[in-house]
Amino acid sequence: MSRILLILGILFLAWMGYRFLNKTWSTRVKEVEKKARQDSQQQPKAVQQVKSCAYCKVHIPEAEGIYKDKQFFCSYQHLDSYLDHKK
Ligand SMILES: [Zn+2]
Repeated sequence: MSRILLILGILFLAWMGYRFLNKTWSTRVKEVEKKARQDSQQQPKAVQQVKSCAYCKVHIPEAEGIYKDKQFFCSYQHLDSYLDHKK
């Protein structure tokens, strides 16, 4: 009789251990997935936007251009040229 109880106890402990590991594993997986999702959501912000120059229409990364009155320019020369043409 005590053997059966011992076996049942071991099985119970094994089941509890399995459940514990399964739970920690799944929460870990969820954490990793959540982080990956956050990273992928943040990535589009890091990707450079390409804008076209209001003067020459050449597409260049937003970070390399200049904004003036909501218009985008590839260089100060084109900004000046555009403003000169506008006059
Ligand atoms: Zn330009």
